[in-house]
Amino acid sequence: MTAVQDAPVSREPTALISARTQLDDAAELLRLDDGLRATLAHPRRALAVSVPLRRDDGRVEVYRGFRVQHNLARGPAKGGLRFHPSVNLAEITALSMWMTWKCALISVPFGGAKGGIAVDPRSLSRHELERLTRRYTSEILPLIGPEQDIPAPDVGTDEQTMAWVMDTYSVNAGYSVPGVVTGKPISLGGSIGRAGATARGVSIAALAALRDSGRDPAHCTAAVQGFGNVGALTAQYLTDAGVKVLAVSDIGGGTHNSAGLDITTVRRHLTDGAPTVVGYPCGEPIGQTDLLGLDVDLLVPAALGGVLTTDIARTVRAAIVVEGANGPTTPGGDAVLADRGILVVPDILANAGGVAVSYLEWVQNVQAHSWAEDRIDTRLRDLIERSYAEATNTARDRGISLRRAANVIAVGRVATAIRQRGLYP
Ligand code: NAD
Repeated sequence: MTAVQDAPVSREPTALISARTQLDDAAELLRLDDGLRATLAHPRRALAVSVPLRRDDGRVEVYRGFRVQHNLARGPAKGGLRFHPSVNLAEITALSMWMTWKCALISVPFGGAKGGIAVDPRSLSRHELERLTRRYTSEILPLIGPEQDIPAPDVGTDEQTMAWVMDTYSVNAGYSVPGVVTGKPISLGGSIGRAGATARGVSIAALAALRDSGRDPAHCTAAVQGFGNVGALTAQYLTDAGVKVLAVSDIGGGTHNSAGLDITTVRRHLTDGAPTVVGYPCGEPIGQTDLLGLDVDLLVPAALGGVLTTDIARTVRAAIVVEGANGPTTPGGDAVLADRGILVVPDILANAGGVAVSYLEWVQNVQAHSWAEDRIDTRLRDLIERSYAEATNTARDRGISLRRAANVIAVGRVATAIRQRGLYP
């Protein structure tokens, strides 16, 4: 194999710089040849689409959408759909690469993909969102399918979005194809336990890290950035395990209570119609940076990427960072945290619970079968705990961080699959 020319990485946005830096490090540790490195550094396919939307008032607007398949060596591509104004091709490419490693790390037979639209979903009515989702789906139809590429929810999308994707795909196929997406409603073949699976995995990984560092959850504290699907339920599961969650935040700001927040009532505050956690009556407002610097045992960034920069990492006082979000730590931030002896449970391990249960959902769809909750929960726990133990052992044996160990395992598995399949033609 020969290497392809690459654009200077410094001109690319943070997420892709992080993803490529991590890949370079793993490739170096694995002594991969240049051809293999170049293959892994670039996506297999990337589709950019224009998505026209007729607004409710009759105006037509056009949004940019993407679907990127990073690697298919180990199976069909798997990865979420993100609806957020910051979505761009470089970010989606980075996220698709992390999906490849995540699936390999937890040993589910998928490659990595990601997709999204540069849109603020809160600026659209429900009907507009449905039309946008359906048109985007029709534009990426040639790429997706239960044996090709299987989308799932991510930032700004949910089970309703997945229902629209599934319906659009199925109408075009002429029959129902539940296995084309995961994270769909249970009434359409979704799996019990999928909605909370990512957060369940984050809390399992966090509790494993507390256990390994000799801490008793009942005497531990946490701060959680992001109070969406991942952050809110992680805060809930940590609370259920006895951890005191002192602060949580969302895009509007944060709320803090040094005696511990009652997460059930913070969640109720939002379902009762509050736009943000900030006005929660039993907490004091706290800024994002102050939350990230709280003196807690566990810090869980569960919003967007790139928040733990070099400067912010210097202010972190948590003993353990558990990455609920994808790519929350920049390479500079990662180096600072490592220097300061702060344990980082990396995203591809910590938040792999979502894709773990997505895999179980897909298996149930392919078998036209549904499993009980305890079976799902046991498999999820096994997948995360086994991957955590493998990464911890590799970190110890090689004398490297947990992130580098997780990347070495994952990149190594994908490289082996590529070598064994060989190069066509
Ligand atoms: P979500 O849209 O449900 O929630 C995102 C949360 O982050 C919201 O509370 C939002 O207000 C908050 N937020 C946004 N910008 C913020 C900012 N600048 N500061 C503080 N908070 C901010 O999204 P989600 O599904 O919970 O995903 C969160 C992260 O977890 C993303 O990085 C996503 O890629 C990752 N992830 C999600 C899943 C999943 O199954 N949903 C799986 C793996 C990883």
